[in-house]
Amino acid sequence: MLEHLLESIDQQDFETLSEDIKRSLGEHRKWMNKITTALVLRQPLTKLDFVAEDAHKHCQFGRWMQKLLADPIFQKGSFLKLEQYHEELHDRARVLIEQLNRGENVSEDLFISFLESRDQFFYMVLEILEFSVINKHQFDPTTKLMNRRSVDALLAHEVHRMQRDEGANTCIVLGDIDHFKRVNDTYGHDAGDRMLEMVADVFHQAIRRHDTVSRFGGEEFLFIFPDMNLAETCEVVERVRKKLAEAALDYQGQQISVTSSFGVTQLCPHCEIKDSIKRADIALYQAKSSGRNCTVSIDVARMIAQKEMNFSEEQLVGLTERVCRKIG
Ligand code: GH3
Ligand code: MG
Ligand code: MG
Repeated sequence: MLEHLLESIDQQDFETLSEDIKRSLGEHRKWMNKITTALVLRQPLTKLDFVAEDAHKHCQFGRWMQKLLADPIFQKGSFLKLEQYHEELHDRARVLIEQLNRGENVSEDLFISFLESRDQFFYMVLEILEFSVINKHQFDPTTKLMNRRSVDALLAHEVHRMQRDEGANTCIVLGDIDHFKRVNDTYGHDAGDRMLEMVADVFHQAIRRHDTVSRFGGEEFLFIFPDMNLAETCEVVERVRKKLAEAALDYQGQQISVTSSFGVTQLCPHCEIKDSIKRADIALYQAKSSGRNCTVSIDVARMIAQKEMNFSEEQLVGLTERVCRKIG
């Protein structure tokens, strides 16, 4: 329910989200305690976050929710549910407090449904908090990109989406910096790290907000392009490749440039994710052996036309003449 966030928000956003939730949750616990105290001691409550028709908009949590829901990224699943539960909690509290303020006995049924509403609300908050806390640690410290673990979750989410919606296309791309070892050997490991940061930045800037680039391994990057076919993806990747080739890192007054090779393929909803990645890797291997600084694609549709999907890695490498296409 929350995986879509991985496509849309970065480490800083996850940190802000978890801090905001924790603070707002603390405020709501104080609000709950005031109600419990008032009910036990039979003291009237008059503040707006208890008695107003739209009480849920007057508490600190509600104000935070309104701000959050102004962003379309959060106008989905769990966040809309959370808003609904929050409003229900305030509605039920208001009815109880109205009874209390009139000096009547508080009805047992109302009190129980208020407690149920409280549990539903807190459970939802904790679910979102847990997700944001886990995911703020899913970024690579050098490049600030998603690390391999979190991108695995995102790939699984994409495959499920494609299985539900037959018309959905998603492509994946493996990029690997060419002769990166030479950067370390010539300028030192720190220069290598700065270069990784720069490459990540160039890649990140060159793609759309809902595309993803992650650090997949040492100097290897995995891209996910939802709702793009192979030809469109290859076009974007070529643009990314040229952008990197034109960029330079200023390291202690020296201008250092690198290039990257890319392997492109479709994410297949009917095979294992690791097999789709293996195809991208074979395409990348072909790009390396074709001279580097180029893009090679493997088209799943062409493989199906070869009447076989589950090629072994050796067979695939042997078949590359027929299934690989070099683009740039
Ligand atoms: P190719 O074009 O075939 O990919 O050549 P390459 O030199 O890029 O590939 P190779 O696998 O020989 O070397 C990769 C290098 O990347 C070796 C490793 O030290 C370096 N590397 C991996 N991770 C990091 C890192 O986090 N920081 C730095 N500075 N270097 C790294
Ligand atoms: Mg390399
Ligand atoms: Mg490598």
